[in-house]
Amino acid sequence: MRILASLIFLILIATVIACNSGTPVTGSTAAPGASSKGKAKLYSATAKGYIMSDKVVKTPEEWRAQLTAEQYHVTREQGTERAFTGVTWNNKEHGVYQCICCGNDLYSSEHKYESGTGWPSFWQPIAPENIATRADNSFFSKRTEVICSRCDAHLGHVFDDGPKPTGLRYCMNSAAMKFVKTP
Ligand SMILES: [Zn+2]
Repeated sequence: MRILASLIFLILIATVIACNSGTPVTGSTAAPGASSKGKAKLYSATAKGYIMSDKVVKTPEEWRAQLTAEQYHVTREQGTERAFTGVTWNNKEHGVYQCICCGNDLYSSEHKYESGTGWPSFWQPIAPENIATRADNSFFSKRTEVICSRCDAHLGHVFDDGPKPTGLRYCMNSAAMKFVKTP
């Protein structure tokens, strides 16, 4: 029985590692624009420049009322949607990917690429200020979590096996983002 339990455990770990192959980008960064006063300097695609924006803080109940069960699980409980199941992994339309929780602009379709993973992947965020990263050592793997710098929503992870010019792969969850088409 113990052997069986160990075996199941090992398979689980192997699955997690396989899903996230690629070396993690280590270290964390606070969003350069973030401040402790509840305001953040963020890039706005609509304004085509930087704006000062209020940070968004809500209770779990408020988030649950606003989000679907899957959106809540991914963004507020560090969940990961199954590969090839999200609505935008294969989206090639021109537009902006916003945080599903607070509407913060996160990624531009200009920086999206086909990573073959089944998750929407980008080689850079729309602006460095709009996301933040922190170390994620869950599942015994060292990964770097990507969060929204306005509301701290979990978005996905970043790895260093992406394409040029950054060499980064921002592996996101469709469920954490809303796609807004632009002409
Ligand atoms: Zn957000």
